[in-house]
Amino acid sequence: MSKDRFMKRFYPNKYYDSIFDIDLNSLKEKGIKSLLIDLDNTIIPRKEREVSEDLKEWFAKLFNEGFKVCIISNNWKARVDKAVKNLDLPLVARAAKPRKKAFEQGMKILGANRDQTAVIGDQIFTDVLGGNRIGLFTILVVPLSKNDLFYTKILRKLERLILKRDKRR
Ligand SMILES: [Mg+2]
Repeated sequence: MSKDRFMKRFYPNKYYDSIFDIDLNSLKEKGIKSLLIDLDNTIIPRKEREVSEDLKEWFAKLFNEGFKVCIISNNWKARVDKAVKNLDLPLVARAAKPRKKAFEQGMKILGANRDQTAVIGDQIFTDVLGGNRIGLFTILVVPLSKNDLFYTKILRKLERLILKRDKRR
């Protein structure tokens, strides 16, 4: 595999500061109807269990727009259950991302095929890599807990690389 092709596995298709910034219309235009969404640091800060009102509103908006959602988390089921209880969503816990199986399980639950499905997450090496491996549309967001400076530094570097690549098109 060439270096370029190898690196592309780590590039998301889109990159946003937060889930709230995701352009839902552009997803719809691409025919994407199903979203496999990470839990920790994507929709809820890692140490928290409460679901914010903003988040509830965002999910209500997703459903109004016709999106289907499954939570895919590498975390243990008990922790995940508590966190998503109020959202009433299907979930795949202990997902072992970037392995493909959990993404395939999520698609099966939603009755979706690959062309209709996007992955949303805060981690390059689990969410983005896993989604890219099976050809899903991948969306990276900045982790909600930003205390990991090392990780944030990598994200910023990746962001610059992606922006450079986009300009070349
Ligand atoms: Mg995460």
